[in-house]
Amino acid sequence: MNYQDFTKNIIEADDIVIFSHVNPDGDTLGSMIALYHVIKNNYGKEAVMVVTGEIPDIYEFLPEIDKAVTFDKISKDKVFSLAIAIDIAAKDRMGMGVSIFDRAKVKMNIDHHKTNNGFGDYSLIIPDACSAGEILFDMFENLGLKIDKAVSDSLYTSILTDTGGFRFENTSAKTFQIASKLVEYGTHAGEIARYCFESKPKPMVLLQANALMNAEFLENQKIAYTCITMSDMEHFQAKEDYTEGIVGALRQIKTTEVAAVLKEVNEQTTKVSLRSKHVDVSKIAAAFDGGGHAFAAGCTIQKPVKIAKDKLVEEIKRYL
Ligand code: AMP
Ligand code: MN
Ligand code: MN
Repeated sequence: MNYQDFTKNIIEADDIVIFSHVNPDGDTLGSMIALYHVIKNNYGKEAVMVVTGEIPDIYEFLPEIDKAVTFDKISKDKVFSLAIAIDIAAKDRMGMGVSIFDRAKVKMNIDHHKTNNGFGDYSLIIPDACSAGEILFDMFENLGLKIDKAVSDSLYTSILTDTGGFRFENTSAKTFQIASKLVEYGTHAGEIARYCFESKPKPMVLLQANALMNAEFLENQKIAYTCITMSDMEHFQAKEDYTEGIVGALRQIKTTEVAAVLKEVNEQTTKVSLRSKHVDVSKIAAAFDGGGHAFAAGCTIQKPVKIAKDKLVEEIKRYL
């Protein structure tokens, strides 16, 4: 799609719904909120925002995120004029809300995952962009749309979190140029960084410490992994998002080439997060019908955690 298609579809729409992805992160939420405010302030339209799963506490500062709803709050036969998927690598990452997306008259897909297959009627997939927020900034600027502080803070959150604080390989000259412009639009960089990186709930940090203590290392310490069980989650009274960041901590170890966190969702389901320094882990995730980026990917394996671990390790070894 080109940028004008965005404007045309917004103008023609009677009602609009925006989808973020399951286990929402700073990019999908920041981008969704930025879209919401841009649509409201530039086109005078109120969009419905859909979240799947709990919004991590740290993102409660995003302006009007309390307006976001879960898909079950939308009537079953509702047909929206326009549905926008943001930062959604694959359709199933919308969770149960995907049926609402599928029913919409016009479906738009804005994303930066290279594994995105371009689902929808209009897709804007830019794998070189560090975040969905970066794609939106370019589009908003190009279309001459008003970027107020709410939009600026939200896009900055997208970029800051998806680049791991401007540290990951996806951080480009352009990323810094956009960040600089967002600060000029009124965002306080230190304030957003404090919300995103220094506002963790205490049990989250303790769960992370426990997971790291239980980590295992294989193949000359090139593989670092840990399993988080349902009983760990219960013990630390952890919310779903409290496991965020553990896989990144395993990658911090000098010898680590591939880091993995296996999370027991139930007796038969294991959610996997993968991070690496050189290996393309999106290929490993794809072997289990997942996807993502070269150095940050994920998948869900329909096996008990111990069996999933063996299968995953076997697959990782093929890429070392
Ligand atoms: P996570 O480890 O959950 O933070 O995910 C890392 C990256 O992989 C993110 O960019 C996700 O969008 C992507 N990802 C995670 N799980 C899946 C999946 N099942 N299918 C496609 N992409 C995924
Ligand atoms: Mn994301
Ligand atoms: Mn993203």
